[in-house]
Amino acid sequence: MKIDFANLKYQHEIYKDEIEEAIIKVARNCNFIMGDEVQELEKNLEKFTGARYAVTCSSGTDALLLAMMALDIKPGDEVITTPFTFIATAETIAFLGAKPVFVDIDEKTYNIDPTRIEEKITENTKAIIPVSLYGQPSDIDTIQAIANKHNLQVIIDGAQSFGSTYNGKTDSSLGNISTTSFFPAKPLGCYGDGGAVFTNDEELANKMKSLRVHGQSKRYHHKYIGMGGRLDTIQAAVLNVKLKYYEKDLVLRQEVASKYTKAFENKLDITLPFVEEKATSGWAQYSVRVKNRDELQARLKEVGIPTAVHYPMPLHLQECFQYLGYKQGDFPISETVSNEIMSLPMNPYVTDEEIEYISSKL
Ligand SMILES: *Cc1c(COP(=O)(O)O)cnc(C)c1O
Repeated sequence: MKIDFANLKYQHEIYKDEIEEAIIKVARNCNFIMGDEVQELEKNLEKFTGARYAVTCSSGTDALLLAMMALDIKPGDEVITTPFTFIATAETIAFLGAKPVFVDIDEKTYNIDPTRIEEKITENTKAIIPVSLYGQPSDIDTIQAIANKHNLQVIIDGAQSFGSTYNGKTDSSLGNISTTSFFPAKPLGCYGDGGAVFTNDEELANKMKSLRVHGQSKRYHHKYIGMGGRLDTIQAAVLNVKLKYYEKDLVLRQEVASKYTKAFENKLDITLPFVEEKATSGWAQYSVRVKNRDELQARLKEVGIPTAVHYPMPLHLQECFQYLGYKQGDFPISETVSNEIMSLPMNPYVTDEEIEYISSKL
């Protein structure tokens, strides 16, 4: 058996006629920049997420930049986040000249541990960025309460969690600003780079709309220092088609996750994913913990089972962040999990036979 990790080809096959027609329409109209499809997508995203404002942009990384620029994060500021995430979460903080301040993760959810946040708050702290890792929102109520108490902003990095919920609300509709990514391998992927920011605050929404077109107020008049951060019309056209079927994708992903969990429940040496009762996950990844990870990965590869590691090195140990002065041992849970974590094939189309095969080889 040869299993596909994200199975993007199969997904294209299913929606091929509609998606290709949408792409051709943009090509024929030549409305490549901010065409009608972009506004249409933003309306659709608002409806889907329940956020009052959706502003699309060029990637999940640029979504984080737009959010922090809108909140005036600048040199000298500190932003609290998790070291167990993709580099973009902390890289964008540093890119704006602010200082990433890490807080270790919860051992079960792998999201930022809210009980450790307050001890890291200083007079320079401006914001907290919880990451909805593998698709599961962080404990937003607790984090928001800490933020309110200390007058901080909350930016949710929801690059992996589009459509997932916390107390019945999508995590795009929570926080001061929430971001997402439409990178092809994310749960809702486009056909290149793409992203979005969400907020319930009209002023912030308007500022981010301006920031993504070079801070302009009207053509060639620039109110802010901004960026070139628009979503291509072609990507919006693809997403308008895929979003129509996304609710179904989420159900299928949940089914795959539940089947994995059931198939593995008697394997005592594997730590299974844990989702809080008040949350649902978009299952960007189905990640388990094993003791002999690297060896196991190699053996699974030999029998046609692709795996991945999200992520092998926590951010406080990355070369680019050496200047922050962290060392091995500073965030023991992140360090242990990064040595043991392994993601299994996850997409809406993983079959029962594949799950059985993977379970037998594990
Ligand atoms: C993928 C990802 C990003 C960046 O998104 P891009 O669209 O690739 O720029 C940011 N944060 C997290 C947690 C991610 O997984």
